[in-house]
Amino acid sequence: MRKTYLLTPGPTPLPPQVCEALARPIIHHRTPQFQAILKEAVEGLKYVFQTKSDVFILSSSGTGAMEAAVANLLSPGDTAITVEGGKFGERWTELCYAYSVHTEIIKVEWSRAVKAEEIKAKLKATKAKVVFTTLCETSTGVTTDIKSIAEAVKNSEAVLVVDAISGLGVIDLKTDEWAADVVVSGSQKGLMLPPGLGFISISQKAWKLIDTARSPRYYFDLRAAKKAWAQADTPFTTPVSLVVALNAALKMLKEEGLENVFTRCRKMAEAVRAAASALGLKLYADASCASEAITAINVPFGLDGEKLVKTMRDIYGVTIAGGQAELKGKVFRIASMGYLNEFDIILALSCLEKVLYQMGYKFELGAGVRAAQEVFLK
Ligand SMILES: *Cc1c(COP(=O)(O)O)cnc(C)c1O
Repeated sequence: MRKTYLLTPGPTPLPPQVCEALARPIIHHRTPQFQAILKEAVEGLKYVFQTKSDVFILSSSGTGAMEAAVANLLSPGDTAITVEGGKFGERWTELCYAYSVHTEIIKVEWSRAVKAEEIKAKLKATKAKVVFTTLCETSTGVTTDIKSIAEAVKNSEAVLVVDAISGLGVIDLKTDEWAADVVVSGSQKGLMLPPGLGFISISQKAWKLIDTARSPRYYFDLRAAKKAWAQADTPFTTPVSLVVALNAALKMLKEEGLENVFTRCRKMAEAVRAAASALGLKLYADASCASEAITAINVPFGLDGEKLVKTMRDIYGVTIAGGQAELKGKVFRIASMGYLNEFDIILALSCLEKVLYQMGYKFELGAGVRAAQEVFLK
């Protein structure tokens, strides 16, 4: 008998309610029945995005929504600020290059978050039209203080874009209240769906740029999406089944309440950090910016980090994530997002202990699980 568990930062496990919705017979997308489903989805997304603006559903993974932001907001030769503190921050720079946008890069140590003052200084020194940030840098387990950055960007000409692909529905992000102009996300992380949908919310300030930008765009032209949405429609065929499942997931998030979702995820991350410390392991991210969505733990000296992750997955069926890019083999990452609760975390930690033990790492068996239990009992 083989049972599997998924604790990666996307895809995340699917709730039974979502699986059931995915299995329903498909309906046609240009019908009043589907229009009602779409309207319900957009309303639910507004709740999760904490915005009154319309949220657009794109047929793509999260990166498609990132590309939509770049292609729609900027023209060739424009300047944008990007923050490189990990693999996903670097993606903003790569997208800007692809659209011939000049980037002013703020490089931050991968274990740290960018500070509002750094953004402010860069804004003063350049004529940037857009500031690209990342709510949760999934590759490092760092959360950025978007509130203070939005405060710095709000009174400038620039538009703030937030990659909340792994942060949405996990970490508090008050889109309207803080003035995060454009927020992008995807379906397979906090929203508990299979990969395949991208989401983007757009403020009035951002629409002004979109209406005048000159970058080439067709499939991701947000002007077309806006025009279609005025008739409760989409420009192209929407992944019908994924949207039906999205409503099931959104219903669950609404029933639990966003604040409770944030608390659940925060506690799970806290438990992982406590367990790591109890096992004598070092956390990758600085404590001041440790993410509530994902925890990166340094591989102890002398141990094969990739073998650790492979053994947990292939022998015991517990999938966590290894390190990406320059962190390959150096960290392993445990997610605390989506359809997970305290017992999933305890299970993953017990598997981690077992494999660490078998690999010859010295610690007191059960110490990590105990530390996690203590966090959940608080
Ligand atoms: C997962 C992730 C992405 C990439 O999303 P895809 O759905 O793989 O395109 C981008 N940014 C962050 C922060 C992510 O966690």
